[in-house]
Amino acid sequence: MRLADLLQQKEAERVSQLHTQQQKSNCPVCCDRGMVVDRTTKTSRTCICIFERIVKRKMGEANITPKEQLQTLDSFEFRKPVHSQMKQLAEKYIANMPTDYVMHQGRICTTQDHCLWLGGATGMGKSHLAIAIAQVAIASGHNVKVINCVRMFAEIVDCFSTNEKPKMYQEAMDATVLVLDDIFKQKPSDFVIQKIYDLVQWRVQLGLPTIYTSERRLGNKGEEANKLNPTTIKDMDTSIWRRIRKSCGDGTYVFEYF
Ligand SMILES: [Zn+2]
Repeated sequence: MRLADLLQQKEAERVSQLHTQQQKSNCPVCCDRGMVVDRTTKTSRTCICIFERIVKRKMGEANITPKEQLQTLDSFEFRKPVHSQMKQLAEKYIANMPTDYVMHQGRICTTQDHCLWLGGATGMGKSHLAIAIAQVAIASGHNVKVINCVRMFAEIVDCFSTNEKPKMYQEAMDATVLVLDDIFKQKPSDFVIQKIYDLVQWRVQLGLPTIYTSERRLGNKGEEANKLNPTTIKDMDTSIWRRIRKSCGDGTYVFEYF
């Protein structure tokens, strides 16, 4: 066999092998190797699927489901004039969200207002915006957690009786950026209130960004009561209310619409 024929045969075998590998693998570009080699320029680069895998892992770690990943700032719908105000506040918050943290006496701290309060009735798009912000924070490399407070409150109560460590609560303490979704939907027991105070106080002291969504009003002066949920956060616990309000820049990052 001539050398040229032999080389052609080898190349055909290689292409056929590659084809089989591509069919079997999750990524047809790199056949799950993670690297793409350019045979002409003899250079290699990281395959896009590696970044996709990182995003998938980080979304999973943050408790953001594939369906929730569609909840971005771009997909936020403007059904009422108030929605454009909501989005503007979220954008302002994202623009000012600290990208790096200064260590001060062994603690992380930010000098800016670092929390956001989104209050409103069900279906207002509060969780959508909070998840959109969480996704931006993930892209900036933060350790992010989205926690449903109804489930976390139930876990705190369960763990109190079994003497176990509440996992979700610990995750909420540790996250750099935290979304506390649907906080104080029900009026919690004094024990849960104390645990939430510890969590809020810890995060305020460290200056860690926390985004709250709630069907209740904070309870600031001069505002109308929410007829569906007349009990405000201030009514439930003045200390928690004071810390949340202060960390939201005394109202700079407070959005309430009922
Ligand atoms: Zn790939």
